[in-house]
Amino acid sequence: MDEELVFQVLEYARGQYPREIMLLLRGDRDGEFLRIKEVLSPPLQYNGRDFASVNVFYTPFTPSIIGTMHSHPSGVLKPSLQDLLSFMGKVMGIAAYPFEGKEHVAFFNRDGYEIPLFYSRTQPFAFLK
Ligand SMILES: [Zn+2]
Repeated sequence: MDEELVFQVLEYARGQYPREIMLLLRGDRDGEFLRIKEVLSPPLQYNGRDFASVNVFYTPFTPSIIGTMHSHPSGVLKPSLQDLLSFMGKVMGIAAYPFEGKEHVAFFNRDGYEIPLFYSRTQPFAFLK
């Protein structure tokens, strides 16, 4: 994932705090990696104080959508049981309060295990292909 994109998400989450944000992740598979190229705001989203939800009937859930990302104003950097039950796609990103840096972002798989995140700007080998 592009480092710049991570900071854009953090900035957006900070701006919406204490509301929760919900985003769709667009990207593709590159070997054993999932490359997140873009984050999208789903249509007709409800930004509640306690949760964010996506109306799946209005969500452009094409194959290029590889997962979702949302914020935890509570500061807890791990998926809740509800998050895992409503898991969509292959990866779930969470940005946790105070949304200041990379240490406040993590990605998880469907089982709730953390997936390591590599930044394309700080991982020069990503450009060698
Ligand atoms: Zn959550």
